[in-house]
Amino acid sequence: MLDFCVIGSGISGSTIAHHLSKKYSVHILDKARGPGGRASNKRFKQNLSFDHGVQYISPKSKEFLKFIKTLCKKKEAKIWTGNHLDFTFEKKEISEKFIGMKGNNFISKFYTKKIKKSFQSSVKTIFNNKYFWEKIWFDGQFRFFCKFTGFSFI
Ligand SMILES: Cc1cc2nc3c(=O)[nH]c(=O)nc-3n(C[C@H](O)[C@H](O)[C@H](O)COP(=O)(O)OP(=O)(O)OC[C@H]3O[C@@H](n4cnc5c(N)ncnc54)[C@H](O)[C@@H]3O)c2cc1C
Repeated sequence: MLDFCVIGSGISGSTIAHHLSKKYSVHILDKARGPGGRASNKRFKQNLSFDHGVQYISPKSKEFLKFIKTLCKKKEAKIWTGNHLDFTFEKKEISEKFIGMKGNNFISKFYTKKIKKSFQSSVKTIFNNKYFWEKIWFDGQFRFFCKFTGFSFI
């Protein structure tokens, strides 16, 4: 029996799945076709792709900045030096901005590399069966039944 099921492979879900996977068995379910949620990236042609949500990450805490810089060292992310118009014309503190080397779903991809994932698996119902959580989800035309001791809905 699996220990945890995480619903959603966005930044939050993949982060919690990564931390849980250090000690427990984890399975991630996502209704989308790939990882990232609102930070997902769609491949277009060969090396071309576009980001659906997150344009860049600008870490506000030292810890998060350190983590993103680690991903830069691993060639998963890089500093974004582009510019954009700000119609407020207010002077703002300049913060470092980062993007993924192959799309802005880099945090989800990095964190879930070694974790079992099922995409196009929309969770419809979750039951608590006294001793465990019982889940039913749909993947295309198939219906799965599973038993988990814990779950996290992100
Ligand atoms: C257009 C846009 C631009 C943005 N730009 C920036 C930016 O530049 N910088 C920045 O820091 N933030 C930006 N954000 C905000 C950022 O994208 C979100 O705060 C962040 O991605 C949220 O992550 P999350 O994991 O909490 O949720 P989500 O990314 O929404 O993840 C939820 C996941 O759960 C899955 N899910 C939901 N219901 C089910 C179900 N029943 N069964 C299975 N799976 C399910 C979804 O498919 C999804 O993958 C932007 C958002 C948008 C929309």
